[in-house]
Amino acid sequence: MLKWADIIRFANEGNPTPERRVEKTDQEWQAELTPEQYRITREKATERAFSSQMCSLFEPGLYACVCCDTLLFDAGEKFESGSGWPSFTQPVKENSIAYTLDNAHGMQRMETLCNTCGAHLGHVFPDGPAPSGLRYCMNAVALMKTASCQSKATFGGGCFWCTEAIFQQLAGVSRVESGYSGGEIANPTYQAVCTGQTGHAEVVQITFDQTVISYADLVRIHLSTHNPTTHNQQGADRGTQYRSIILAYDAEQDAVARQVIEEMASAYDDPIVTEVQPLETFYTAEDNHQDYYVSNPRKPYCNAVISPKLQKFRELFREKLKDQPVTMTP
Ligand SMILES: [Zn+2]
Repeated sequence: MLKWADIIRFANEGNPTPERRVEKTDQEWQAELTPEQYRITREKATERAFSSQMCSLFEPGLYACVCCDTLLFDAGEKFESGSGWPSFTQPVKENSIAYTLDNAHGMQRMETLCNTCGAHLGHVFPDGPAPSGLRYCMNAVALMKTASCQSKATFGGGCFWCTEAIFQQLAGVSRVESGYSGGEIANPTYQAVCTGQTGHAEVVQITFDQTVISYADLVRIHLSTHNPTTHNQQGADRGTQYRSIILAYDAEQDAVARQVIEEMASAYDDPIVTEVQPLETFYTAEDNHQDYYVSNPRKPYCNAVISPKLQKFRELFREKLKDQPVTMTP
């Protein structure tokens, strides 16, 4: 989750790399956009406050850049700020928006741009609601509401540092969060889960676009990238927190998961012991467990356990990967 300190860092030290870049000439933009869209997104104008119905629109869905269709915000992060501009607390991905310090009009503000095409979107302020504390104050004209094809999946297959690193690389996966599920106590900590006494498994919650990757494919990838035949154990990691588990969001996911397990059973010498059960609550893990492999590629565990696993996974599922280059540990 991005906080104000991250925004300042991006503005000072450079913005995150987008998944793709769209570059067009002013003439090309002018030909594609309405005069109002052009004025706001390419000439950094601001629409009149309370000029759009989008402020009071809270139906589920996603908001994309009006210039390049890149998804920028999820309706779940939208809130009523009273400002007269659509307001969000968090972008859909950490690299979807670029930040630059704006000193225009005698004010010092943080400008937000589409990180893919450079469209001016609005500004971000550090006075939004918890937990991010951010308020993305957007021009409605710069955004386009799209229907939601987003769905969620939750899997456990041993240490979540590994499973997170794998699912982050798949095309159609917009978010992977490490956390805990399937246990007895509320709001468990990493230390508590590590004792093996809480009943929780280390899991990842995956947000994915069903039009790009199916739930069945995610289950196949999950089963192929850990050992689903060892009880409460993955490699050297032992304990109930490392059990192989699929937490289904509905009856359909439950049925698909069981079907894929049956379909893959013949590929293993031993029976698949993966549990399939309904998801009750997903608890997000502490911040230092999010993006663990990406943030700590040189740590011994990442080098010894995760990197070789990722290499194998990338060979096996080459056609399902995001097309951006991924830095591997040397
Ligand atoms: Zn854009």
